[in-house]
Amino acid sequence: MRDGLKVLGLTGGIGSGKSTVARLISELGVPVLDADQLAREVVEPALAEVAAAWPQAIGPDGKVHRKRLADIVFADPAQRLRLEAIMHPRIQALANERLDALAAKGHPLAFYEASLLVESGRYKDFDGLVVVTAAPETQLERLLARGDLSQGEAQARIDAQLPLLAKVRVATHLVDNDADLDATKTQVERLVASLR
Ligand code: ATP
Repeated sequence: MRDGLKVLGLTGGIGSGKSTVARLISELGVPVLDADQLAREVVEPALAEVAAAWPQAIGPDGKVHRKRLADIVFADPAQRLRLEAIMHPRIQALANERLDALAAKGHPLAFYEASLLVESGRYKDFDGLVVVTAAPETQLERLLARGDLSQGEAQARIDAQLPLLAKVRVATHLVDNDADLDATKTQVERLVASLR
């Protein structure tokens, strides 16, 4: 809690529907910070460090080739930790800046969407944790439907995360996104009403 602003973490398994729930929350007028978006904003200032660590992930245009970098770090936990160590302090500083601005504007509630809040232990920094759930078959099906990953790559990304149950165990609130969008929307409306 900061200056009257309650901030909840928003997470879930890959492809479980975090971004979808984030969109439904923002449609209710509640701000959601997206850690991926913050990461994109800080990647340029972090470019020199990323290039030193993984020169093969820098494209001919001198920019980070995101898919290549993702492939490297998803294949190796040590590389993932290394990337986290470069990015995390920058992302956190930017997030704090944005949350301070929301508090200054008088917002009572905001969310912070990130995929690895439980894995990193950062879920403890928030006033609560919303975990979005979907059955593993649904996760895989939705990841494949996006069309940019093979079945093996999609499964590897699911397997690289903590099992959903471990996230559910530390959640303060759950949103079941295994069914259709209307069912999810109803839960999100209830959740936001209860937190406001
Ligand atoms: P990632 O971990 O990759 O960031 P995510 O958890 O944010 O994924 P989304 O991007 O919200 O998940 O959803 C994954 C895909 O499934 C998207 O294409 C989305 O449109 C679709 N989807 C999400 N929720 C539902 C739903 N209830 N019914 C049908 N399709 C859905």
